[in-house]
Amino acid sequence: MPSAPAQRQDASASALPGLSLLPPLDIPRRIISDPSLRPVADKLEAGQRLERQDGLALMRSRDLLGLGALAHAARLAKNGRRAFYVLNRHINYSNVCVNGCAFCAYGRESGQEGGFLLSPGQAAAKALAGSLPVDELHVVGSCHPDLPFSYYLELLTALREARPQAILKAFTPVEIDHFARISGQSAQEVLGQLQAVGLKAMPGGGAEVFAPRVRQRLCPQKTSGQRWLEISGLAHALGIPTNATMLYGHVESPEERVDHLLALRGQQDQSGGFSAFIPLAFHSQNTKLGDISPTSGLDDLRVVAASRLLLDNFPHIKAYWVMLGPKMAQVALNFGADDLDGTIVEERITHMAGGTTAQGLSERQLRQMILAAGFEPVRRDSFYRHLPALAPAEEAA
Ligand code: SF4
Repeated sequence: MPSAPAQRQDASASALPGLSLLPPLDIPRRIISDPSLRPVADKLEAGQRLERQDGLALMRSRDLLGLGALAHAARLAKNGRRAFYVLNRHINYSNVCVNGCAFCAYGRESGQEGGFLLSPGQAAAKALAGSLPVDELHVVGSCHPDLPFSYYLELLTALREARPQAILKAFTPVEIDHFARISGQSAQEVLGQLQAVGLKAMPGGGAEVFAPRVRQRLCPQKTSGQRWLEISGLAHALGIPTNATMLYGHVESPEERVDHLLALRGQQDQSGGFSAFIPLAFHSQNTKLGDISPTSGLDDLRVVAASRLLLDNFPHIKAYWVMLGPKMAQVALNFGADDLDGTIVEERITHMAGGTTAQGLSERQLRQMILAAGFEPVRRDSFYRHLPALAPAEEAA
């Protein structure tokens, strides 16, 4: 299995110009009606890496079935009919943040109503709640103005002691950059200290869209795209696998989406530690961008498909059911996605932006969603190692 810290995929092959990490694909040509997708199909059949103009053709096409045919062929080559899920629990330790991103409904200024901060003990109590196993603790928060770096070491220590079997997947590159600033240390030193108290993997948030134009407009205080990529590479060098994201459906252009994906692909060529890419559909409610309409179903599936095809060196593409909704996430399994994320239990970030999905799903619900969509459910850990499904009695407990 790819993605475990000691089992990074060999990115050297993709460093050869034009050579894709996808094998030559068998494309059902009769399904494709958009002529602009035919050159893309030619390259995929020849095992060639897609380029910027191919990405633009994908990102602009309205030929939904054609996009699905291309991406599904890539999905089958990468992951067969497997669809992964994880028994995870989200822990949001704080939402008090110095950055004030325009698209964020979750963050609060210091002293503002609705701000919260969990002590390490309170976070550990949340991690312990419930009787089902937890394979992964997904820990993200904010760039808090006052907390010292020692808080984050204590937080991970408390979570590790509370749930020693769970893999600690914590802190986006944006948070790591913040910790480096407040502690006066390098990002590498910060990562090393967090690793020493249990950090095993990192989530991929904070990437948004890398284009400086977009960041200047939406999140000028936030870590730059270049720094986000650099910190991801530093984590990979330490054997910490990470994820990557793109928040789409706000002010970005198709070109900026494609350039974002190609920057991720380039970083993966260099450092090889990204496990999964997660496209995140923008939810505007309760943000400063409240007049932006929700993404369309066509766009959601198009971004999933384009991601699967352009990110030929990423092992996994996630259809994050919280943002897409369970039904669209099921459909996305046929458009390149091979992972639904997990049980989550308590989701705050999307729900504060008007998300209407459930707070969490049971393992049984996730497995049934995958089976009903015609795929093979596989329980995984943070490194995509396969785990046995819970026994029915355990699931019902
Ligand atoms: S998106 Fe993250 S960094 Fe930006 S305001 Fe919200 S919590 Fe802070």
